[in-house]
Amino acid sequence: MLNNMTITIKEEIYKGLPASKGISIGKPFVYKSESPAYIPTDGDIDIEKEIIDYEQAIEQSKKELHKIYKLAKEKLDEKSLLIFEAHLQFLDDDVLHTQVRKRISQEKKSAYVVFDAEIKYIEQQLLLSNDDYIRERVADIEDVKHRVLRNMIKKKLFSKIDENSIVIARNLTPADTILFSNRNLLGFATDIGGTNSHVAIIARSLNVPAVVGMNDISIHISQDDYIIIDGYKGLVIKNPSGRTVTKYKNLILKYEEYEKTLSEVEKVPSRTKDGKDIKLTVNLEFNKEIDYILTHAGCGVGLYRTEHMFLESGEFPTEEEQYKQYRLIADRLYPEDAIIRTFDIGGDKILPESQKEANPFLGWRGIRICLDKPDIFRAQLRALLRASNFGNIKIMFPMITTIDEVRKIKVYVDEMKHELREKNIPFNQNIELGIMVEVPSVVFMPDLFAREVDFFSIGTNDLTQYILAADRDSSFVSELYQWLDPAVLRAIDIIIKSAERNKIGLNVCGEMAGDPLSSLLLIGMGVNELSVETTSFLRTKRLITLLKYDEAKKVAAKALTMNSVSEVKELLERSYNKIIKKIY
Ligand code: PEP
Ligand code: MG
Repeated sequence: MLNNMTITIKEEIYKGLPASKGISIGKPFVYKSESPAYIPTDGDIDIEKEIIDYEQAIEQSKKELHKIYKLAKEKLDEKSLLIFEAHLQFLDDDVLHTQVRKRISQEKKSAYVVFDAEIKYIEQQLLLSNDDYIRERVADIEDVKHRVLRNMIKKKLFSKIDENSIVIARNLTPADTILFSNRNLLGFATDIGGTNSHVAIIARSLNVPAVVGMNDISIHISQDDYIIIDGYKGLVIKNPSGRTVTKYKNLILKYEEYEKTLSEVEKVPSRTKDGKDIKLTVNLEFNKEIDYILTHAGCGVGLYRTEHMFLESGEFPTEEEQYKQYRLIADRLYPEDAIIRTFDIGGDKILPESQKEANPFLGWRGIRICLDKPDIFRAQLRALLRASNFGNIKIMFPMITTIDEVRKIKVYVDEMKHELREKNIPFNQNIELGIMVEVPSVVFMPDLFAREVDFFSIGTNDLTQYILAADRDSSFVSELYQWLDPAVLRAIDIIIKSAERNKIGLNVCGEMAGDPLSSLLLIGMGVNELSVETTSFLRTKRLITLLKYDEAKKVAAKALTMNSVSEVKELLERSYNKIIKKIY
């Protein structure tokens, strides 16, 4: 009887927060970032190579730790510094290194396996101690071990991520996501994360589906499963039935057809039905998007996040590297303009090993880091000014909290201009300077800021999290984190009016700008410039061409009288549905 039995694997559905639209069907790649997994190499061990790999990993780890130590010295107390000192001392332990080399040669095992075993042995010895302090050192040693192992396998690990797979992880940092972006991924699903975390933003610009805040998907999915990721509804379906697969394949076709219809608006101006021009630009994440912009969008860039260069390599790019990159953008986009934002490092955009603050989003982030690191800031400003000679670059500064910061920035800009003039290096003398409006302090005294700068750019991702005190990365407070909250709308209204009063430029570059309901509202509130992800560009443009500004104005006026996010949403949904039919 056994022969006739068929084993049916039950389909399982897991729900999370939809972070990037799209559907993919395929194999998962379960990624474990916390403890780098060893991937055995095929064939015999090359002893010499293993020893070199080991030594390089130790050197690289020391380099990283020295860098962190230097940063930490400026910011952390003595006690925290001791931790890094202990890590460094551990890496200088010649007895350990000799032992590892000896075992690699004698046992013909890989550096990874030997080092891992040696550390385990040391940890076991420490755990036998009666002294709490000594036992607690195990955590430090684990930290160092992971750093060294990661450096040993980094390249191998990333190259082993299968092409065309859906990455499942407990958590992904923006740095992980950027590194994976070269692997033709089909999507991401993570246990933690909110829909406006930088990982979600990157997934959207890669145009792959993503679901975040799934709690424990990384435990439920294994490498042998077959899955569907539905970035519209925020679902991961494990081992789907034949019927489910067919349903999703049909949806993919439907979605592709819808995408094709969007090409109709490529060549038409971004203008409402009743003739109001809305400047639509894109948030550029990857250079490959520039080709898309030139062929399908023909627009400028409203936000270029320069910290991506940092996240890719883990180091601040040199002035020359930056100059080349900014020049490339300016040159290729000319005559359209490119708003380039200075490094917004911190928050979730740091390398895992430098994450030492209890509240990184309220900590050393954005302009705060740049102003504390004048050499890095000067190099970036010089690179930007030099590149401004080749196109229409505007410079924007993130996380602005005080007028003093703006004034300090301007002193640096003037200093760099002076330096370039002295050296006869050409640049745009009238380059525009703007600030991101994302910290509530700006909303309380907008005119004072407006008098200092050429433009405001509303960063609704952060503005929402700071106004509502709800972490943009947290799935626990995602109900609270809503940019359509009446408090956020009132803040935006204040900024729009201040920009008008002071006759300075204004755009919205947070995710809200590309959200269909919200773009309708923002236009009605008087925003004339929206910067959206490249993947939302045509959809937003089509919405603009379908709506009447006069009607949007009425909707916005009404929305601004409402008390709750649900009322606002209901109103916007009704108005939106009148204009356009959703496909899904
Ligand atoms: C924002 O905060 O809205 C923004 C555009 O900046 P980022 O998402 O990079 O923090
Ligand atoms: Mg921001």
